[in-house]
Order: sequence, then C-alpha cells, then structure tokens
Amino acid sequence: MSEVIANEKIDSEKLKTAQAIISDLQAELKQYINQGSGPFLAAIYNEKGEMVAKTANSVINEKCSNNHAEMNVIKAAEKTLETYDLSPYNLSLYVTSEPCMMCLGAIMWSGIKAVYYGVPSKRVEKITGFDEGFKPDWFAEFKKRGICVYGNICQEQGEKVLADYVNAGNKVYKPER
Ligand SMILES: [Zn+2]
Repeated sequence: MSEVIANEKIDSEKLKTAQAIISDLQAELKQYINQGSGPFLAAIYNEKGEMVAKTANSVINEKCSNNHAEMNVIKAAEKTLETYDLSPYNLSLYVTSEPCMMCLGAIMWSGIKAVYYGVPSKRVEKITGFDEGFKPDWFAEFKKRGICVYGNICQEQGEKVLADYVNAGNKVYKPER
C-alpha cells in the first residue's frame, strides 16, 4: 500500500472523502478513455460536498496542449460560477494523478483551496512516459499560500488505470523536453 502524504496534519475525515471521490474517478476514467479522452480525470467540489464540475484530459480529442483535466475542470467551474476567482467558494480539486507544472500554476491562480490527487508524477512518468515537467517543493509553496494538498490517494488503483491505458496502445503525447 502506498502512503498518503500531505502538507498538513492528515485529517481523517478529509482523507476518507477524498478516497471515496478519487476511487470513483479512477473507476469512471476508464469510460472517458474509451471515448477518446486522455487518462486523467478531475472534479471540483464545494464545501457542502456538491460537485461543481468534472472533466477529463482532452489534449488529443480537442487538439489543445492546455487541455489537462485540471485546466478543463477549473475553466468549467469558473464558467458555472461566473467568476475568475474561486477563492470565496472554498473549493476542493480532486484528480486521478498529481498535477503537472502547468496545472500547479493554474490551480494557484484559480483560488482553489485544497488539492487531492492519486498517482504521484514520478509513477505517472514511469508507467506512461508522459512528461510532468520540473516542479519545485510545491507542497511547501502551496502551504504558504493556504492551499492544502494530499497525495498518493488510491495510488494502486490509479496506477492500474494508467498501465491499462498504455497496454491498450493508447497515445502518449510527449512534447520535446
Ligand atoms: Zn497538467
């Protein structure tokens, strides 16, 4: 079993909620992949536990390098709430794999208050070959900015989805490093 990591003392209620949501996202992700999406799925929830938005990676099917699951879900939430600043809403972002360098920036500018992810980037890169970019100590940086982070949630389940994606011969796009 992988160990959950966080940039605060682990809150068992938050973790339990995140495990339930991320496990569901991993299970659902297979259907998105079958419909042509990339192997990453993200959802944003409000503090009442209601889902605000859910989107998959659509880089290939929508031909846009920005269309990571997290970018898409932030755009969808901002559209729904008609704002460019999500900070007053106390929203949490759940995603099947650790955000890449682009998405970390987007999360910071969005005003999201908490990030929960499944498979860590090093494992994503190892299993799939996707490039996650260079990342400084983002756990500490996010803590400074008041954003809580929990990682490696349902990691084994997520790794299997990624391995299945690759083994099925799906495309791994990899811009030049
Ligand atoms: Zn990304």
